[in-house]
Amino acid sequence: LIVKDWSKFIEKITILFQNVQREVHEGKNADYIPELSTVDPELFSVSICTVDGQQFDIGDTDAEFSIQSASKPMLYSLALERYGPKYVHEYVGMEPSGAAFNSFTLNSENKPHNACINAGAIVVCGLMYPELSVAERFKKLNTEFSAFLGGEKAGFNQSVYLSEKDTAHRNKALSYFMASNGAFPKNVDIDETLDFYLQMCSIEVNSNQLAKVAATYANYGVCPTTGSTILSYDTVRRTAQLLFNCGMYDYSGRWANSTGLPAKSGVSGCLYIVVPGVLGMAVYSPRLASHGNTVRGIEFAHRAAETFGWNIFDVV
Ligand code: GLN
Repeated sequence: LIVKDWSKFIEKITILFQNVQREVHEGKNADYIPELSTVDPELFSVSICTVDGQQFDIGDTDAEFSIQSASKPMLYSLALERYGPKYVHEYVGMEPSGAAFNSFTLNSENKPHNACINAGAIVVCGLMYPELSVAERFKKLNTEFSAFLGGEKAGFNQSVYLSEKDTAHRNKALSYFMASNGAFPKNVDIDETLDFYLQMCSIEVNSNQLAKVAATYANYGVCPTTGSTILSYDTVRRTAQLLFNCGMYDYSGRWANSTGLPAKSGVSGCLYIVVPGVLGMAVYSPRLASHGNTVRGIEFAHRAAETFGWNIFDVV
């Protein structure tokens, strides 16, 4: 077993969970998407899935949340698998942007800096399944995502989707700004692409499922609970680079400096971390810090990484 003393391990995780729940109350729900501001800010859950399939969930593990930006690495991985890194990186870079996730910045080649910021994810959405109808595209993405979730079908939060669509002025402006800079392949319908992106962000999961996504990356592309190979080693490596450098918005450097793990957050308050070769962990708590990352999620993941020596540079 990869985690030898499982009961001791979950005992320590439980204590960390209780401490963070008692001590950490900062931050506030995202409110630029109105539906997210109405979610109970006290919800808190942690889920773990090891590379050999041991699982532990604590807290409000029934709570479901829209996946938001935590979908972006899966999207990037699927694009790499389907179209290859050369083609994908003709349209999106691999550098941190140093700017907020929704900022209007392109690199010197007029490409979005990376696939984890809104600009990059919208462009990657534009690359996906061009031969399919809108309905088939969403169905295809949803099916491909479910393989990461241990084969479970993801939900969809219709109210979050409508709320995002209603207030998507910035993402819309961003999409047209990119179109005017030639950032999309020819023949891509910009409105359809943005809509596809918003649908992807509204896919609904729980922390147990998100831990399996992280565990699939930690297990080099094989989902630990189903044993099915979802991604090649090359895709996992490239995605881990993206997570490590760009997964936490413009907090990514500080995160890598302090916690030292590939991770991805979403504005619903979710966060997952990848401990390569060991486990995946997901945290859900809606209150965010100013850069858009869950406050309790960061604190919990940081304390856990310190306690268990998970920083990737700790590995001997
Ligand atoms: N749907 C959100 C947006 O486009 C996703 C952003 C996020 O999670 N950071 O603004």
